[in-house]
Formats: sequence, structure tokens, C-alpha cells
Amino acid sequence: RVMGVIKTQSPQPRTFSRGIKTVTLIPGDGIGPEISTAVMKIFEAAKAPIQWEERNVTAIKGPGGRWMIPPEAKESMDKNKIGLKGPLKTPIAAGHPSMNLLLRKTFDLYANVRPCVSIEGYKTPYTDVDLVTIRENTEGEYSGIEHLIVDGVVQSIKLITGEASRRIAEYAFEYARNNQRASVTAVHKANIMRMSDGLFLRKCREVAENYKDVKFTEMYLDTVCLNMVQDPSQFDVLVMPNLYGDILSDLCAGLIGGLGVTPSGNIGANGVAIFESVHGTAPDIAGKDLANPTALLLSAVMMLRHMGLHGYANKIETACFDTIREKKVLTKDLGGNSKCSEFTADICRRV
Ligand code: NAD
Repeated sequence: RVMGVIKTQSPQPRTFSRGIKTVTLIPGDGIGPEISTAVMKIFEAAKAPIQWEERNVTAIKGPGGRWMIPPEAKESMDKNKIGLKGPLKTPIAAGHPSMNLLLRKTFDLYANVRPCVSIEGYKTPYTDVDLVTIRENTEGEYSGIEHLIVDGVVQSIKLITGEASRRIAEYAFEYARNNQRASVTAVHKANIMRMSDGLFLRKCREVAENYKDVKFTEMYLDTVCLNMVQDPSQFDVLVMPNLYGDILSDLCAGLIGGLGVTPSGNIGANGVAIFESVHGTAPDIAGKDLANPTALLLSAVMMLRHMGLHGYANKIETACFDTIREKKVLTKDLGGNSKCSEFTADICRRV
């Protein structure tokens, strides 16, 4: 595998018709509009055949007082199937849902995929990271089932189903097969969570039987953490339940330089996929032209690969990595002094 190249994010080769494709763009809050503008400019410079359908997403109350995303955003996603999303703030008001959770539920985005690849020339503790975390996104400890038993005692349910476990395992193996990845590691704690993680692991083993061309290994979460900090290059594709994925995927992002350079994709049922930067709205630098657009740009590159537009994806990714490697025009978080707009312009001139 070639260092610095993020593999295609689509488990199945998809057929998209030729010509210009429409993608729903959710710019988001805080630095979201700035980094979205950066991505649009770079796509335009690269002549990528994408037109954007911009939609705002704020939670609104629908019939029966249920939280929902605005119908215009839902209709746009239902029609286009593919979305690119900036960060969304989570209002602190009581009862207000997390917007990311609402999107996940609305489109049954069951697989969170995060490639973590060392960027050449960008100084990090490791230089040879090239792995992908695949996180089950719909259940586990995030099932939302919690009860107060008596005052001072709360019970929180970890929900694991065979169906969701099989679905994520199949996604991981398909992903590995279609992206020339040699192995899939199931991450679990079945030694302690015998029934829940035991079920997850059993489904992974069953699915592995159908993918003899992909090596299957299993590893306890704590052992993965230990091995990961000692030598991350030993890992390839890792599949895991929700909470473990939430934590481990951020750890892996740290290995390649943090959330500012880490892309992600959320793959859903019915062909819907939303690609997003994993950092937040960065309210401290919003509107100051200081944001680093790399994470959203690399998420957009994942999106292009998902759509089969590999040539444009490679061109944009190479330009971005070249700008970073050259170190002349970098945003502050990357160790430079340049503005978001200058960093963007440097990538634009290379594509
Ligand atoms: P944050 O990621 O917004 O900021 C943490 C630090 O990282 C800040 O100093 C910020 O300036 C910096 N930073 C983040 N992204 C950057 C970028 N692209 N370029 C340069 N610097 C960057 O985390 P937070 O402050 O905990 O959260 C702020 C808001 O974002 C909250 O409302 C939270 O709910 C929301 N949030 C949204 C998402 C999402 O939509 N995916 C993820 C995390 C947090």
C-alpha cells in the first residue's frame, strides 16, 4: 500500500451515472461555513464534477413533539444519497438532541469509517500508520436505554444485537476485500462482557467464514490499546462495537496528528452516506479565517472515492498532502502562520 493514500471508502463498487453529480452540503456551525467554502473552492479548481445543494441542519420539533431534521435537508439527502457535512454544535438546552445522533438515526448510518494514514512530512510520533477503524454506530452503550433504579443507582443498558453485529462485520469484510486490505481485527471484551461482546464476536467469526481471502483476528480492546501505542503499523481494518469505536477512533486520529487531519464517513442503509470532519465547531476561532480545512477536505476525498471518482480524489488528496509536506503555507494548528484562505489557495494552485 502507498503511504498517504486513503483507500476507497465504499464496500461495494458503486455505479453512478456519468456527468455532474449533486451532493447535499451541510456547512454546519462555527468554522463549518469557512471550511466548506475551502472545499468548494478546491473542488472547483480541480474541476470535480460535483454540484452542491446546500442545506442548513438545525433540530426542529415535528409532529408529536419529536425532534427531527428540517424536511428540506431530509428531502435533499433522500434524493442525492450522498452528503458532506461540517461540524454541528450541540445546543446545551435540556432535551435538545445531538444533531449528529439525529442524523445517524434519521438515515440509519450504521457504519462509521475512519481511515488513519500518516501524512508524509507532518511530524507525529509515528510515520507508518495506515489503518481503518470501523465502528458500529447504532447500538451498544449508546442505545439510550437508562433507568434510575433507586436514588443514587442508575442502570444503563448495553444493547447488542446479532443483526447489527452481522451487518457491521459484513461491512468491514467487504471493505477490506474491496480496498486490498489484508486483515480484519474484531475488537472486543468478550472475556468480561460474555453475552453482549460474545454475540458480537460470534457474528464476526461467522461472517469471517465467508471471506477466506481476508485474514481474521480477534483482540481484546485493552490489548489493542497496548499494541497500538507500541506499533500501530501492525493494524489494518479494525471492527468494533459503538463505544470502543468512539474511543479507539480518536486514539487513532491522535496517532496521525489529530482531529484536524482525520476524515470520516458514515455509511447508511439504502445507499445513503454522509462524510464529515470529526472535529467540532471550534467556536474560539470561528469567523477568523484560521480554521484548518484538511479534515473536511479529506472527508470530501473519501466521498469522491465512494462515488467512484478516483481520479479527482487522488488529484485533490495529493495536492493537499503536497501543501502540508512543503510546510510553506500551513494553518496554525499544523504549525504554520497562514490563514485558512491562504492554505486553500495553495492547494487550489496545485490541483
Ligand atoms: P472542537 O473540536 O470544536 O475544538 C477543540 C479545539 O480544537 C479548539 O481549540 C479548536 O479551535 C480546535 N480545532 C478544532 N477543529 C479545528 C480546525 N479544523 N482547525 C483548527 N483548529 C481546530 O471541540 P469543542 O470545543 O469541544 O466543541 C465545540 C462544539 O462542537 C460543541 O458544540 C460540540 O458539541 C460540537 N462538536 C461537533 C462535532 C461534530 O459535528 N462532528 C464533533 C465534536 C464537537
